[in-house]
Amino acid sequence: MHTMRVIDSHAHCGIQEPYPPQAFEDYLAAIRKSPISGVALFPPVAEIYDRHDPFFTDTPSWRESRKTANHYLTTLKNREIDVFPYFFIWNDFAVDQLSDNHYGIKWHRHDDEPRYNYDDPACQAAVQAIRKRNLPVVLEEELENTIRFVETIAPGLTVIIPHLGMLNGGYHRLASAGIWENPNVWADTALAPARDITEYIDQYGHHRLLFGSDFPFGHPPSELSKIRRLSLADTEMKDIFANNLMRLYEQIQRGI
Ligand SMILES: [Zn+2]
Repeated sequence: MHTMRVIDSHAHCGIQEPYPPQAFEDYLAAIRKSPISGVALFPPVAEIYDRHDPFFTDTPSWRESRKTANHYLTTLKNREIDVFPYFFIWNDFAVDQLSDNHYGIKWHRHDDEPRYNYDDPACQAAVQAIRKRNLPVVLEEELENTIRFVETIAPGLTVIIPHLGMLNGGYHRLASAGIWENPNVWADTALAPARDITEYIDQYGHHRLLFGSDFPFGHPPSELSKIRRLSLADTEMKDIFANNLMRLYEQIQRGI
C-alpha cells in the first residue's frame, strides 16, 4: 500500500502559553506514527490578545507577545516535518512583520471578544499587503463580519473558513448567505461534524476543502480517521489531505 501525503492545515502552536501544552514538540508527539508530514501553524490566541476582556486595549507588552509568538513559528523550519507558519494579525495590522517565511494569515475573534477595527485605514492597508503576497486568510469571525470580510473588506482574497463554519455562525447559515459558493472561499475540516463535510462535498465539490486538526483542541490522528471513514474516492482524499493546500501555497507571491 502506498502512503498518502497528509498535511494538517490547522494547528495552534506556541510556547508562551503553556495550557494546553502546544509547543512544537507536543505537536510532534501527537502525530507520532501517523502519516502527517507537514503542518500549517498558527500562534495561540492567548499570545495575541486578551480574549476575556471585550474592552481590551493594546499595550506594548501585548505587541511584544504577538511578535514573539509569530516569530517562534518561523524558527521551526526543517524540524522533522514541513512547517508552514501563519502570521496572526491583530489590531496593529503589523503586516511589516510579514516575510517570505509566511504561508498564510490567521484572523480570529469570537463574538464576546475584542473587535477588529475594520474601519481603521491600516486594516485596508493590511488587506492590500496580504493581497500582494496572495496569502490565504484563515478567518474565524462572527457571521456578519465573515460576510462583510469576504464581500466588502477583502474581496478577491482567499479566505479559509475553519471548522466548516462551526464558529463563524454555523455551516448552514453560511450556506444560506451564499458564502460557500464564492470561489475564493475555502474551508477546513477541523472538528467539523462528518455530516457537514459530506454535505459540503456534495454541494460544492472537494477542491476547496482542507484537512485540519485544530491541535491542541483536536487530536490529529482522530481527525484523520474521521475523514478516512467518509468513504471518499482516493483522489478526493488526496486532494483534501494535501493537494488542495499545495495548490494554494503555489500561488503565493514571494520576494515582495
Ligand atoms: Zn483553531
